[in-house]
Amino acid sequence: MTKEKSHEEKEKNKEEKKTRSKATKTEETQETPNVPETEGAANVDSKVEEPPKDELAESNAENFIFQSEVQQLLHILIYSLYKHKEVFLRELISNAVDALNKVQFESLKNSDIEDKDLDFKIEITIDKDKNKLIIEDTGIGMTKQELIDNIGTIAHSGTLDFVKKVTQSNSSDKMDLIGQFGVGFYSSFMVANEIHVHTKSFHKGSHGYLWKSKGGNEYTIEEKGKQNRGTRIELFLKEDETEFVGIPRIKNIINQHSKFVPFPIIVEKEKIESVDAIWTQPKSKLQEKDYNDFYRFFQNANEDSETYLHLSSDAPVQFSSILYIPKSNSEIYGWIKSDPGVDLYSKKVLIQKACRDILPEYFRFIKGVVDSEDIPLNISRETIQSDLKVNKIRKFVLKKIYDHFIDIKTKDFEKYLKIWKNFQRNFKEGVPNEYEHREQLASLLLFYSSKSPKDQYIDLDKYVERMAKDQFEIYYAIGNEYESIEKNPALEAFKKKDLEVLYFIDPMDGWVIDHLQQYKGKMFRPVEAADIKLDEKEKEQNPELTKKAEDLASYLKVIFGDRIEDVKVSQRLVDSPCILVNAKDAPSIQLERIMRLQNSKADFSKKILEINPDHKLIIEMTRIHKEKPDSEYLKLLGLQLLDNMILREGVTEDVESIIPRIHDIMLQAAQKA
Ligand code: ADP
Repeated sequence: MTKEKSHEEKEKNKEEKKTRSKATKTEETQETPNVPETEGAANVDSKVEEPPKDELAESNAENFIFQSEVQQLLHILIYSLYKHKEVFLRELISNAVDALNKVQFESLKNSDIEDKDLDFKIEITIDKDKNKLIIEDTGIGMTKQELIDNIGTIAHSGTLDFVKKVTQSNSSDKMDLIGQFGVGFYSSFMVANEIHVHTKSFHKGSHGYLWKSKGGNEYTIEEKGKQNRGTRIELFLKEDETEFVGIPRIKNIINQHSKFVPFPIIVEKEKIESVDAIWTQPKSKLQEKDYNDFYRFFQNANEDSETYLHLSSDAPVQFSSILYIPKSNSEIYGWIKSDPGVDLYSKKVLIQKACRDILPEYFRFIKGVVDSEDIPLNISRETIQSDLKVNKIRKFVLKKIYDHFIDIKTKDFEKYLKIWKNFQRNFKEGVPNEYEHREQLASLLLFYSSKSPKDQYIDLDKYVERMAKDQFEIYYAIGNEYESIEKNPALEAFKKKDLEVLYFIDPMDGWVIDHLQQYKGKMFRPVEAADIKLDEKEKEQNPELTKKAEDLASYLKVIFGDRIEDVKVSQRLVDSPCILVNAKDAPSIQLERIMRLQNSKADFSKKILEINPDHKLIIEMTRIHKEKPDSEYLKLLGLQLLDNMILREGVTEDVESIIPRIHDIMLQAAQKA
């Protein structure tokens, strides 16, 4: 169900698969070559040419080779010791539901479909004597090409991920992965040693086809007259898998995994009780367990959601919706960007899976259902976007989601932290394009801060609440980690003045703030660019030392030449000898460093070096400058002072000249010791 991909991706995949499956067909007369397990059959370079119809007799079934990933997958599944093999039935039923959803949708749009009057249903029959289990649906069916594309290759990117992961993991983890990924149709090979798929597409006048495989490297397809539209999957069960021809066992599996299926399921002529679309039921009738069961069902999840939201409205637009925030985020592991998580229904008929027009893209991690009887069934993808009613629903839902997040943050910060840790990148990603709810989105952002213990987040409201009376800006410092920001000399004056500074550790933070600019009327200001000066009292400054340091500053400016914009006497330093700050309006040094990480050729803007007139090292340097203005040693110290600051920023400009210079300084220090 929701495992399905977005339309665009599917189209792309189809194209890819077409090319792959063309390459994997063997010559009709030729024996199937023995393809090594890991090497693709793509080497077999013969073209599929549609044979004339009369050649497609049963005796003349065509041989095909599975895509190499499918071969790997089948090998894993056939020899699998996975404990919960019954999941295969959930997967087959879920595919049948998809197929029924699609044909239901087609039949509402278009009257010209095969077997128009056939009921939408799933039938399960058992042949105990032959140890055979049959799952039949009256869904959309498959054409011959679709058979090749869909069940000769891997249709689902999650399954490809599975194959990748499973080949890298040890055997006990492998088994868990089967449960987590839900490997679709192929999971039936855990229980069956041969599978037949009879199918007939919904296109008017389609032929029936029979797909057969024993799970090795190959399968066959032949034309065989299936009577009705839909798909019948026959599982010839392995000898020891007799439990799946037991009716009570089958009913039990369906109750456990498939009770929300929106079409009748009939087991040996008896209809199984199912639960009606829960989003249309009144909240008062539903328990937490109902919501969780539904979530596990439609997400194929093996854990509950973190939280959920059940919404309904009658005016101005009728709709009902259940939305879930999951407990984990697959994107964190660097997997591909997930599809939108909301499916759009009209009167319980699925109109569009993974609908892009309900929630903004950055909220793609929110999973659920929106159902509105005001949306016409024949609405097209293109018109959904501009549909006024859809727009109203979108507005309403988005507002409720923000209220929900803010409510959790206020009432249960621990819970909010879990959501934040999983989805902070999504929230941040939203900032540039979210105009209507920008302030709310900003209020959901969390940061580390100089006034909170390490690893403890605060939000911007907390910062604003703690601001000093005469403070008008929100100060922040960027760095790789908490400790390195703490040691940033630019923070010394802030600490002395008891001003709070936000610590931006996530590389996205600086970028987010560039877009946000302000929060509740307070501008964001990097510490290096802030006009923070320690006054005489705070600094106990000695005017004479300041004067001497000014001379040293002029000297340093000469020896640095055009490497630096200016050298000044600092009014912000307490413990450090010097600091590198930005010229006005330049991006912060750390931000530039991040830009540098992404593009090693990015130019740095010229900086200002500020020296601390009260620091012992600066005092000594001013002394040397006074006594021996052209001292070579002073020049070495000066050059090293600047390079130390550059090194501190994590940008090693010219290590080859820095190290010999340090050695030189050390030598001269040693000679004096
Ligand atoms: P997934 O369902 O995750 O896409 P599967 O391997 O289970 O992956 O199925 C692959 C594809 O085969 C489906 O996407 C669908 O196009 C097709 N398919 C499977 N079962 C059916 C069915 N009962 N009716 C029609 N098409 C089906």
